[in-house]
Amino acid sequence: MRSLLPLPAIACFVLSLSACDRFQRPRTAFNGEASLAYVRAQLAFGPRVPGSRAHERAGDWIVAQMKQRTDSVVVQSWAHVTATGDTLRLRNVLARINPTATQRVLYLTHWDTRPTADEDMNLGNKRLPIQGANDGASGVALLMGIADALKTTRPLYGVDLLFVDGEDYGSFDGYNADSALTKHYDVLIGSTYFAQHLPSADYRPIFGILFDMIGDKDLQIYQESNSVAAAPEIVARVWSTAEELGYGKYFLNVNKEAITDDHVPLLKRGLRVIDVIDIDYCTEVIDCVGTPRNLHHTMQDVKRRPSSSSPASSSSAHRCAR
Ligand SMILES: [Zn+2]
Repeated sequence: MRSLLPLPAIACFVLSLSACDRFQRPRTAFNGEASLAYVRAQLAFGPRVPGSRAHERAGDWIVAQMKQRTDSVVVQSWAHVTATGDTLRLRNVLARINPTATQRVLYLTHWDTRPTADEDMNLGNKRLPIQGANDGASGVALLMGIADALKTTRPLYGVDLLFVDGEDYGSFDGYNADSALTKHYDVLIGSTYFAQHLPSADYRPIFGILFDMIGDKDLQIYQESNSVAAAPEIVARVWSTAEELGYGKYFLNVNKEAITDDHVPLLKRGLRVIDVIDIDYCTEVIDCVGTPRNLHHTMQDVKRRPSSSSPASSSSAHRCAR
């Protein structure tokens, strides 16, 4: 695992986003090395595929860690029946700081990992589960590091750290959040459940940010089109804050593509949540046709890639966060 700049950069700016003075640097430094240790801890469980022992243990670990760092931990548990008839026991973990505060911000990430490396170039790998160092573990590590920092420096407002389950289990192909058949895709399961089971009927955080795949060594975060369309003021706030803090090289001021990710069901529910994601997770190794290979949903999503310097890659207009 290389060392490096981008988890502290993202976290630093997240902590600043919520500060009273928008552009005041956070008083508590984000510990990038500690966050890399949180990535390693998750990888030690093995692939966190719903239905596996590793998934169960990793979920228990997240709950225990959050109980040590936050004021209240709410676990949403339910059974999800997949398109093929399997029953998955899933959990969302909502860790709350200042739970009674009416002014709140929401940070979320998915904690499950994909059961199949379907984008791997090696046919023999396509049915194997990915390690998810970047796609899964990096977001969890970021939220955990934020909890560490906020435990040291208490915010005056409420903060909700939400770990959603079942984001990456099934197929994104053709997913349509407006369809009554959404549940049959078996993706975005936890965020959809949370949108249907909010902490209170009037739950409306000032803003929400989804972090996904934010551990790449070569971090490049473009503005995501669903976010720009539905919550442009949040996108503007995040990108301008990053620029002010000197992180403009990671947060590129370019509106790229729409990505189907956990923010979609929340936006549909009326919450103003944007997606911060670097889906182009590429290797330095150039393939035979001269282009970097995307490691997204491959067996190469391993711990040597996520960077502590990073806050933690389908060619259609509608790309998926798979
Ligand atoms: Zn994924």
